Amino acid sequence: MTTPASELPASRHFTVRRVGEGVWAAIATPGAGAFGNAGIVDLGGETLIFDTMYTPQAARDLRIAAERLTGRRASYVVNSHYHVDHVLGNMVFDDATIISTAGTLDLIPDGNEETLDYIRSADEPAFQERAEAAAAVRDPVLRQSMEEDLATDRELAASAAEMWTRAPDRTFERSLTLHGATRHVELITWGGGHTPSDAVLYLPEERLLFAGDLIFHRMHAFMQYGDPVEWLRILGEMEKLSIDTLVPGHGDVTDHGAIAAQRAYLETLLALGREVYESGKSEDEAAKTPIPEPYRDWGFASAFSPNMRAIYARLRDQASADEAGQP
Ligand SMILES: [Zn+2]
Repeated sequence: MTTPASELPASRHFTVRRVGEGVWAAIATPGAGAFGNAGIVDLGGETLIFDTMYTPQAARDLRIAAERLTGRRASYVVNSHYHVDHVLGNMVFDDATIISTAGTLDLIPDGNEETLDYIRSADEPAFQERAEAAAAVRDPVLRQSMEEDLATDRELAASAAEMWTRAPDRTFERSLTLHGATRHVELITWGGGHTPSDAVLYLPEERLLFAGDLIFHRMHAFMQYGDPVEWLRILGEMEKLSIDTLVPGHGDVTDHGAIAAQRAYLETLLALGREVYESGKSEDEAAKTPIPEPYRDWGFASAFSPNMRAIYARLRDQASADEAGQP
């Protein structure tokens, strides 16, 4: 039995897409409260949620959608990594077991406090200043990205008073298999690339992967929190899986080809960063590098400049470490 798209649960924060029998992706609507994508899996007798979005408003809609689609409350929630847009919604799943890697559990408190502090302290003049900065940007793609970031942060600020960080209850090291009455799913980590610890959810029988932020589809990836070289290694592991359908952490539902596209993005930026660094330019100049042609119309354009800074800083740190290591 397939639910027609018109009958799938609706939210202003995300669009629900059926990606398999008893499996759905909640794809974030730009500029709303979800920011990151999520997954809903009916294991048979148990319901699993993969990532919990950014604001409690979006997470509540996700919980309602999951309950409508599977007919029960979620018993498992998985956090793919520590970033706020994948874990802050944990607070609305208060009776579920929350699972992450041990590394992600370590990173969640400190990693999120910075964002929460900003949101709690952000007042209307601060938002107004960001709105004016965005309005002054001439590039329409970058302007839109900045306006969407701002709209999402306004959503979060609206619920700042009620927010708290619900940490995972259960951790795993390399992999964990969860069994339901009708299917099993595998949680896998190959280490960290996007962040120091990233996990994915794999449904082998369905050849379906929830990739978390190891895959951004037609959107700039955030490269300043992890290690891009490790990320490339991890993509090599991911490529070995049989995948027909891939749900990225950001962007629409895609397929195995998204892994090669993610690899090309990281490699292009690493090469560009090296070229800028080796030409003797400053970090500020690196940050002003124009977005390369294939990525000109991609979402999250505001992430490109911080990515160039991160790559530049990495090369500079490596060079000074090499110098210090010389006899
Ligand atoms: Zn992330």
